[in-house]
Amino acid sequence: MQTQTETPPLAALQGPPEDPKIELLGMPLKKLEDLLEGFGEKRFRAVQLAEWIYKKKSWDFESMTNLSKSLREKLKRHCRVSLLTVARRQVSRRDGTTKYLFRCPDGELVESVYLPHEGRRTACLSTQVGCAMGCRFCATGDSGFSRHLSSWEIVAQVLGIEADQGLELDNLVYMGMGEPMHNWEGTRESLATLLDPAGRGFGPRHVTVSTCGVVPGILKLAESGLGARLAVSLHAPDDATRGALMPVNDRYPLRELMGACRAYQEKTGLQLTFEYTLFAGQNDGVGDARALAALLKGLECKVNLIPYNPVAGLPHQAPDFQAVAAFQTELKRLGLSAMLRTEKGGDIDAACGQLRRRSLEAGGAAKEDGSDG
Ligand code: SAH
Ligand code: SF4
Repeated sequence: MQTQTETPPLAALQGPPEDPKIELLGMPLKKLEDLLEGFGEKRFRAVQLAEWIYKKKSWDFESMTNLSKSLREKLKRHCRVSLLTVARRQVSRRDGTTKYLFRCPDGELVESVYLPHEGRRTACLSTQVGCAMGCRFCATGDSGFSRHLSSWEIVAQVLGIEADQGLELDNLVYMGMGEPMHNWEGTRESLATLLDPAGRGFGPRHVTVSTCGVVPGILKLAESGLGARLAVSLHAPDDATRGALMPVNDRYPLRELMGACRAYQEKTGLQLTFEYTLFAGQNDGVGDARALAALLKGLECKVNLIPYNPVAGLPHQAPDFQAVAAFQTELKRLGLSAMLRTEKGGDIDAACGQLRRRSLEAGGAAKEDGSDG
């Protein structure tokens, strides 16, 4: 018989020194298998453990009755499954969009949004507290960068929304606070967990990662085989305009970015989405629409047009309705699929970074379980 070790294996998997327990939530199956093998268990036990966590939503090791008593003991001693607490919740009276502010164990606040729309149940997830990319129009970018979220903190947003809403989500977009590709490890591990049929089991075409254009991240996602869809926040068809809005463009100019998009499409065969936020007088002319169509030529893609949602203290303006309509018409005339993204939850600061910013300005969202709206 195999001797079973009581020592926690794989030092690299251990949590911070003040809490040496290993976090199991958001751990990709392969890593979970390695962990259990290190415990002297068979690798297939990882699937059973994942089933408890993601399918049966049971996080009490004692209740995992198809695992041996000794394994349950080891799990209790060395591992944990953590969840985030809801610090604040705002429900839109207009459309049921619900914005969550989750509190992390270190007190940091994370935004997520639940969007019920046309029969789909979508969650918008954050990958960082704040963002280091500094896009000039964005509330999150303007508030600065605090830290990356771990994989478990990303997965916990999904489980937290599902528990609170009493339903299962079917779509995920990585479009909340932060730049997913700047936190590649957290993004990769959470995607692996959420997409794995033995994990939470989301359909690959139902999970989209949005990036401001961090080229190495796009290439890594293409190579990863994870199958997540890619959305790119483009916002301008030329380097001068884009550079003025998004500092990331200086590092990865459009030629490189479009090259990475083509590589992603060649590798995955998936349709791309381009986000294009319209700012009055900056990028919303019919000439910009033509330049955009030329830039996207040859790619299988759709364009999401988002009228700018003004952020207090930032100089950009929302475009007028006629400009938006003319922009969309021109893209369609040139053969592009261009959707106007209707504002959801407009009454509850549902745009990126706005709830956390307001809470911080108001002296912190200390209201436990507060529910506005
Ligand atoms: N960091 C990633 C994902 C989060 S932002 C990215 O930038 O792609 C989600 C989308 O909302 C991005 O396209 C972003 O540029 C856009 N956005 C941010 N603030 C906005 C605002 N105030 N109005 C309209 N769109 C905004
Ligand atoms: Fe960061 Fe995205 Fe906001 Fe840019 S738009 S600052 S990348 S969250």
